[in-house]
Amino acid sequence: MNNVFVYCELEGTKVADVSLELLTKGRKLANQLNCQLEAILAGEHLVGVEAQVLPYGVDRVHVFDAPGLFPYTSLPHADILIHLFKEEQPQICLMGATVIGRDLGPRVSSALTSGLTADCTALEIGSHEDKKAGKSYENLLYQIRPAFGGNIVATIVNPEHRPQMATVREGVMKKEVLDPNYQGEVIRHEVAKYVPENDFVVKVIDRHVEQAKHNLKGAPIVVAGGYGMGSKEGFDMLFELAKELHAEVGASRAAVDAGFCDHDRQIGQTGVTVRPKLYIACGISGQIQHIAGMQDAGIIISVNNDPNAPINTIADYVINGSVEEVIPKMIKYYKKNSK
Ligand SMILES: Cc1cc2nc3c(=O)[nH]c(=O)nc-3n(C[C@H](O)[C@H](O)[C@H](O)COP(=O)(O)OP(=O)(O)OC[C@H]3O[C@@H](n4cnc5c(N)ncnc54)[C@H](O)[C@@H]3O)c2cc1C
Repeated sequence: MNNVFVYCELEGTKVADVSLELLTKGRKLANQLNCQLEAILAGEHLVGVEAQVLPYGVDRVHVFDAPGLFPYTSLPHADILIHLFKEEQPQICLMGATVIGRDLGPRVSSALTSGLTADCTALEIGSHEDKKAGKSYENLLYQIRPAFGGNIVATIVNPEHRPQMATVREGVMKKEVLDPNYQGEVIRHEVAKYVPENDFVVKVIDRHVEQAKHNLKGAPIVVAGGYGMGSKEGFDMLFELAKELHAEVGASRAAVDAGFCDHDRQIGQTGVTVRPKLYIACGISGQIQHIAGMQDAGIIISVNNDPNAPINTIADYVINGSVEEVIPKMIKYYKKNSK
């Protein structure tokens, strides 16, 4: 009772990275709250799938295995969470800010009148004082996310209602195995007790999943371009540099909006979050919405013709100059030195 729950997304029988990231965070929250971490797996042919989540420090795995639970459809998965949460009374529920999480989270929170904070960038435990009501609360989930167009970072609390629900985008939290041999209880539920037959009304007849065209999220080196790259041709230079460095190319939103680069390469609050070992920011000013997606990079190099560009304040190295001059030199000397 009153534990931390993570709804784990499945692609077939593979648990999604975002769910493993949330289990890692969930474990830390559960430790702080001195409670257990529980995972929910709902799909088909799930024998042994719990082995993917237990190493993240899961104390209890709830398995719902039945035809019709994969691919995801709204009603059966919402039924499972709503009924399970009525029984288990979790204090926290986390899920990915994915297509599935964005559909499932609001359904569950509205059925339980619990509230939900979408797209959190950090989750912490803390206290809260409601001065107006003269009440104070301990051990609440701080659901932290940018608000008002990214101009402020808001900390949202849900003092009275449970579970405290939050969604988090893929890549925002770090995935870390706690113990490969972690022992947890596996509970196989009878799906018919949770999902009325009528709620399997939607049948998925055909499904097309497109693979990502690049590995921006997992790349050890990212060469990212901003509006300062000036054009699509400017980005060709970045692709050339990336090829030499075995890196991936990323972009700021301004560069994507200007048509210099594809949208799926956008880094930041409304794009991908990356944690490469090396991030080379070329012609990027470093607004808070961009920094939100790359600030955990190991080393940051900024190439900018404005010495006062905000990104320079978080960069480890600053190359003050125009991208037209600096990037060809980087390509030339890297080629020369790596022979
Ligand atoms: C709700 C919301 C969500 C957002 N989400 C994101 C997001 O996910 N990702 C994101 O990136 N942004 C996001 N933004 C937009 C963000 O606020 C900035 O507008 C954007 O990041 C700016 O991109 P930029 O740095 O490429 O462009 P600019 O701010 O125009 O900066 C260009 C930089 O290039 C430099 N420069 C110009 N010419 C050269 C040259 N020849 N050589 C070298 N340097 C040069 C300039 O000095 C400047 O520093 C969001 C905004 C909002 C309101």
